Amino acid sequence: MTVSILTIVIAVLVLAAGLFVLRAIPGVRAYFKFRGKRLVTCPETHKAAAVDVAAREAALGAFFNEPTLRLVECSRWPERENCGQDCLQQVEVDPENCLVWNLVSKWYEGKNCVFCHKPIGPLHHLDHAPALLGPDSKTAEWKQVRPEELPEIFATHRPVCWNCHVTESFRRLHPELVTDRPFEPRRTM
Ligand SMILES: [Zn+2]
Repeated sequence: MTVSILTIVIAVLVLAAGLFVLRAIPGVRAYFKFRGKRLVTCPETHKAAAVDVAAREAALGAFFNEPTLRLVECSRWPERENCGQDCLQQVEVDPENCLVWNLVSKWYEGKNCVFCHKPIGPLHHLDHAPALLGPDSKTAEWKQVRPEELPEIFATHRPVCWNCHVTESFRRLHPELVTDRPFEPRRTM
């Protein structure tokens, strides 16, 4: 008798664990799908806005039923914190293409540094971030600019590798310490 109860308990536990894993998979998937900074077109201004979806909440929603999407951050907040969050439709339709990381990767893809002409190469989370050269001849890492300004920046700025960004920044901040050798080929902007 005791053995049969134990068997039932084990069977129930195994079943519960199996169900948990089965539900955890869509939850984990939803978390990775919806985390990260995204660019959307604000339905109110028709301009770019940088938003963050509550990824943990979406994961929990997916665990129990369907992922529920809600914003936790927007570049237009706190002024417009009570908006209808209608932009979430754009995230739902195409979560990959509005991810800032993917947009930036796509922009640098196949581009060469304007200074050394070396290919920028794919973005890596652990590598130094590539930079941008503005119309004011100043360079900045892409991570330093506000994400909602990226669409405009992509139209006006040019790609710079991290090494040249460091060199150019140093040259700009300490011109007295930099001597260009005369036989070096002229730097083309
Ligand atoms: Zn370079």
